[in-house]
Amino acid sequence: MTSVPNAQPALEKTPLERFVAPDKPSLVGLSRAALAEKLAEIGVPERARRMRAQQIWHWLYVRGAQDFDRMTSVSKDLRAALAARFTLARPDVVAEQVSADGTRKWLLQLPGEHPGEKPHLVETVYIPETDRGTLCVSSQVGCTLTCVFCHTGTQRLVRNLTPGEIVGQIMIARDRLGDWTDAARTAGAGLPVEGVRAVSNIVMMGMGEPLYNFEAVRDALHVAADGDGISISRRRITLSTSGVVPNIARTGSEIGCMLAISLHAVRDDLRDILVPLNRKYQIGELLAACRTYPGLSNARRITFEYVMLKGVNDSLADARELVRLLKGIPAKINLIPFNPWPGTTYECSDWEQIEQFSEIVFNAGYASPVRTPRGRDIFAACGQLKSATEKLSARERMALRAMAMTD
Ligand code: SAH
Ligand code: SF4
Repeated sequence: MTSVPNAQPALEKTPLERFVAPDKPSLVGLSRAALAEKLAEIGVPERARRMRAQQIWHWLYVRGAQDFDRMTSVSKDLRAALAARFTLARPDVVAEQVSADGTRKWLLQLPGEHPGEKPHLVETVYIPETDRGTLCVSSQVGCTLTCVFCHTGTQRLVRNLTPGEIVGQIMIARDRLGDWTDAARTAGAGLPVEGVRAVSNIVMMGMGEPLYNFEAVRDALHVAADGDGISISRRRITLSTSGVVPNIARTGSEIGCMLAISLHAVRDDLRDILVPLNRKYQIGELLAACRTYPGLSNARRITFEYVMLKGVNDSLADARELVRLLKGIPAKINLIPFNPWPGTTYECSDWEQIEQFSEIVFNAGYASPVRTPRGRDIFAACGQLKSATEKLSARERMALRAMAMTD
């Protein structure tokens, strides 16, 4: 094999994209160019394609159309031709849970590997606050990485989501919350105040490692950020990675979103255990990639996530080392109370310890919000709704599904 000088590092991604695509594909998640190609396939003449693609884009991403008949500015013939070949389907919602504090979780069913095979399941979580509503979006079914404190890491089955399945999660949240132009906004506990979009922010912090599904995540986020459509600014989109170093610069240059790093430890020997990807990309290398993150400035800081594990990474010496390590990087530090899940041997740090840890971080000049646990009454940690539902029989799953349909 000949080596190519100055070649880009090979794109790291999960080589698992096994699933049966539906006979009639959904237009959700296609780029404008891909949408224009689909129009070409059904005979729309070239001169009309851009305009038609723009009209469909508007109906889909501003009005939230779920069927072609709503697209009244598109001719009846074209609507019929589109409906014969395509759908506007989002992933199927098999369960919805609403917490007393307004947090919502949707369990979504995606096509499986073989016809009739058990469907693949992922979750999307919505966290409302007064001034914003944050949607936590999944990028993979399961995760190939095995961070010891993370429930998703224990799930065997892994596949990458398509851009349509990633954008589809945003569509579902907007459908269910009445968050489209002209739609009646859903009333409910904790939703943002009038005038603020129900889904105003996106965090790629659901199931999976987004940088092992880079291209699909990038293409989906371009759709989400498009100013003539879903229109969520790149500054309100945060991608969280456990540290896939070769794709960090590309995240800045090709997506342009905010970056969060799951740091969780300040020494390589400990991070090797907590976040096993650290054995491949050590802390020094990870922070070097952060220092050169495209677009980094005091106004666009990197968030460092740090899960508080009792007696493991929560000493005050760890806090001081954290501050030392991040010196010079425009950063925010997010201390996350560990969300325990059945079978884990880890515990969340005591509240007093979290406070002392956070004080050291605060005194070093970082706002150090401790992420308040939300939706505790509807399963705490990510990945739990999925596991609970997998234990149900097919009949119980059907019942759940029927419930979701009648909402
Ligand atoms: N794979 C990506 C994004 C998904 S995880 C990543 O690791 O960054 C999103 C965040 O939740 C990460 O910071 C992750 O470390 C954290 N997390 C996972 N399981 C957790 C748990 N049980 N309690 C608290 N935080 C958890
Ligand atoms: Fe995967 Fe992130 Fe969980 Fe680690 S923390 S196993 S990278 S989802």
